[in-house]
Amino acid sequence: MTRRVFIILLFSSISLAACVVESTVPPPATAKPITATVETEAVQSLDDAADDPAIWVNEADIELSRVIGTDKNFGIEVYSLAGEKLQSIAAGRTNNVDLRMLEGNGRWSALAAASNRSNNTISLFLIDRQGTLTWLQDSEIATGLTEPYGLCMFANAAGLQVFVNDTDGRYQQWLLDISSVDAREPAISAMLVREFAVPSQPEGCVADDEHQRLFVGVENEGVRWLSAHHRASARLWAIADIDGDVLVADVEGMSLYHAGSKGYLVVSGQGNNSYAFYNRLPPFDYRGSVFVVEDTSTGIDGTSDTDGLDVSSSVRTPEYPQGLLVVQDGSNTGPREPQNFKYLSWEKIASALGL
Ligand code: CA
Ligand code: CA
Ligand code: CA
Ligand code: CA
Ligand code: CA
Repeated sequence: MTRRVFIILLFSSISLAACVVESTVPPPATAKPITATVETEAVQSLDDAADDPAIWVNEADIELSRVIGTDKNFGIEVYSLAGEKLQSIAAGRTNNVDLRMLEGNGRWSALAAASNRSNNTISLFLIDRQGTLTWLQDSEIATGLTEPYGLCMFANAAGLQVFVNDTDGRYQQWLLDISSVDAREPAISAMLVREFAVPSQPEGCVADDEHQRLFVGVENEGVRWLSAHHRASARLWAIADIDGDVLVADVEGMSLYHAGSKGYLVVSGQGNNSYAFYNRLPPFDYRGSVFVVEDTSTGIDGTSDTDGLDVSSSVRTPEYPQGLLVVQDGSNTGPREPQNFKYLSWEKIASALGL
């Protein structure tokens, strides 16, 4: 969401003043500058609209992988690895989106879920083998929350699950019944299997399926983790606190870069326009930060006030030889340009941070 510090930039030549939310806090002194490789077409809605991405990997042809992005005032948009907009779904006020691949070789390759404030639901989307989404409008999950906000998915032996949180700190864990997914008209039902709360406003989260951990951002406190198992204690453990240097509030999007059983946790530190990297495994050592500057050769602008992000070590192409990190950009340059998403090469990050 928005920062508390607002700088209103008035462009006299533009009738509609561009209201750009920017932080005044610099990135950590040790953070490394990198540039984006690609930027997507802008989302449809003006102002603070783009929020959170999810990367869908095309296992048959990696180059045809897709990036799904939310527009908080419109719904879902789907982009190619070149940043072209391929699909738009007017699903409502979607906020966070995540996905999991499905087993088998049926029509559907994956299931995506998005928090949706239009009717306070979780919206579900099946993804076919070409990366085209179908919104399951009859399978909306009514959360009963006041404002479904952050969302992430989880899979273990119990099945596919969705975590969703409310700005008041409540978290819900839903277990999905996908047994009819291959039916002519798929319908998915959900059962609430756990509820817990974090001390103050959460948003970003990511689940580690292999190690059954849920990483959560508490926007004004820091990064925490707890057991992702629905029968386990929801006791929170600290990974990093907001310290005004590495992490400046809000803690926003987070995702996991998988390298075998190891890898990295990536966190958006919205308050100083930077991204912090931690080891995926305990004790979750901090490995450094990057921030994104303009690439003067391509004209792709840097990023600021990032909300959501997603990373995949499976997207390996000539442009992304070690994987892809997608981040929302709170201020896309160009007069009256709506917000968009930027694609970063993991190779540049790994090289900058010595990962
Ligand atoms: Ca937020
Ligand atoms: Ca925002
Ligand atoms: Ca996401
Ligand atoms: Ca920008
Ligand atoms: Ca731009």
